[in-house]
Amino acid sequence: MSKVRIHALAKELGIESKRMLELLHGMGVDAKTASSTIDDDTAEIVKGLVEDELKAGSGDEAMPTGTVGENPVKASQADSNTDTETLSAEVVTAEQAKTEPVKPAKEIPHRPPVVTIMGHVDHGKTSLLDFIRSSNVASKEAGGITQHVGAFEANTPRGKIVFIDTPGHEAFTSIRARGAQVADIAVIVVAADDSIMPQTREAIAHAKAAKVPIVVAINKIDIAGVNPEKVMQDLTNATLIPEAYGGDTIVVQISARTGQGIDDLLENLSLVAELEDLRADPDGELAGVIIEAKVDKQAGVLATVLVQGGTLEVSDFLVVGELYGKVRAMTDSFGTRITSAKPGVAVQVLGFSQTPIAGELVKRAKNEHDAREIIARRKETRVDAADDAEREAAIGQGKGAAAGLSIEDLLGKVGEVKIEKRQVNLILRADTQGSLEALEGILLRENNDDVEVHILFAGIGAPTEGDVLLASTAIDTKIMGFSVTPSSGVQKIADNKKVEIKTYRIIYEMIDEVKKMIRGTIEPVFEDKFVGRAEVRQIIKVPKAGGNIAGSYVLEGKIMRSGKASVLRKGKEVAKGQISGLKRFKDDVREVLTGFECGINVSNFDEFEIGDLIVVTETVEVKV
Ligand code: GDP
Repeated sequence: MSKVRIHALAKELGIESKRMLELLHGMGVDAKTASSTIDDDTAEIVKGLVEDELKAGSGDEAMPTGTVGENPVKASQADSNTDTETLSAEVVTAEQAKTEPVKPAKEIPHRPPVVTIMGHVDHGKTSLLDFIRSSNVASKEAGGITQHVGAFEANTPRGKIVFIDTPGHEAFTSIRARGAQVADIAVIVVAADDSIMPQTREAIAHAKAAKVPIVVAINKIDIAGVNPEKVMQDLTNATLIPEAYGGDTIVVQISARTGQGIDDLLENLSLVAELEDLRADPDGELAGVIIEAKVDKQAGVLATVLVQGGTLEVSDFLVVGELYGKVRAMTDSFGTRITSAKPGVAVQVLGFSQTPIAGELVKRAKNEHDAREIIARRKETRVDAADDAEREAAIGQGKGAAAGLSIEDLLGKVGEVKIEKRQVNLILRADTQGSLEALEGILLRENNDDVEVHILFAGIGAPTEGDVLLASTAIDTKIMGFSVTPSSGVQKIADNKKVEIKTYRIIYEMIDEVKKMIRGTIEPVFEDKFVGRAEVRQIIKVPKAGGNIAGSYVLEGKIMRSGKASVLRKGKEVAKGQISGLKRFKDDVREVLTGFECGINVSNFDEFEIGDLIVVTETVEVKV
């Protein structure tokens, strides 16, 4: 009995592989991915189902794009990864379908997938990128020299694929550490003559932590005598079970030197993208991420923006972190000037006066005035970008920052909070494979109904910068090392990012500590940490509010609404209390930074005098 690949059959019948998989699952067939195979009989049955479905859909031009509980089928379109395909992203529930006339949903087009390449050093990441660039990028200019802007678009028979051209998991995770997710798929390159190496394991951990689908490329199969089977075995041990072994990891054998298998790799990437159903609205709000930025001696600051939503245009005012710029010119990866860029396109933007940081989110402001306002607010409060986006959206809709949510809404939200299983997130490091495996085994036995011990990554050798970045992307993750010591550089980065690295020489001490963490019995030790100080420059009398407010100027650090205050007069403490009010003009704020004025209330004290110093501390848990 012969076998047929699911995606090939889907293509032949003119439906998406995703739909084909749904139909197969409905038949009880355990097909994992679109590159899995099915036998002839199954193919016949599923063909019948597709034909029935197409018949039901044909002749009915007005058929709603969102049919009940499933993605609609579009018979005429074999190639799903095009801008023209416009299926609904919205799914109508069965209940709604019964009671409401179904309106065609807004049609959101597909966008190309963004792929990052990771793996151990010298396994061929750069060679693979180079091969794809030279063979799949149709240069618009004779000679075809593409410029490095941080990403490039490859043309494949199944549509475009965007490759991030800085390989490696450090770049990928440092972008994630800033709150952005750039890649949709990770290709992990493993050299057939070397198999899984420490950085391969790291890359797998980083991709898994980001929850991006992984495709493995076994590279260098042109080398005589290499054994790809051995790599497949090793992948299985590293928790990536190849499809050929009954798992769901797509593994493709390639040679970045001869090009063998690369078309197959690209086809599989398109298939994964199809299943991920990646869509973005070019008419929606602009969303983008800086993927790299540099200063060019002649041109000035050049920042590459990957557009993730909306359309970026010349003359737009962009806000990135605490910087803004007006797009003076944009060039694509061929160095061609363009005037607009849709989702999935990476463009080099000229127009920032300072260099933005990779991983920062890009937003559009209406005009220069708005851009400045957004930045002033960010500087004052330094809230995180996601928080900020919500606030700006609320203000944009004419609602107050906190308005729009009633007490009932808030209570409702509180009511919705689910108590989830507590998770203890760890990154483990040990000096030898033996001790690492022993530790992993013992710690994983501690899983119980209330707590899940989640080991994001376990590796041999001292903790690395990559570990710190990985820890900083997941909530409450500790790095624990056995018989290893981080370098002072890595320790510094960890301190900076507030990631805790704990090292042990005695294995049972380490296990005990984790057990204590699991039971939540570690006694926390707290201490007060200096956060800022302000000088009182004006006494504002507000009898209605019950006393005086200290009109102050922040000299150092910041003043935090949640901080503790000590009022000093000529070097002596005259009062101590909690900050009970913090205002910028009339607005209540969470923080005020150096160089700004503010009004400060201190609990149980209001006899401020001009010249008093208000020193603010916060109570932090000391790492013991
Ligand atoms: P990276 O460190 O992962 O970016 O690896 P490179 O792309 O720099 O490749 C490391 C070395 O392996 C270079 O000498 C490449 O020429 C070689 N190499 C890369 N891919 C292949 C391949 O498919 N076959 C062979 N024989 N050599 C390769």
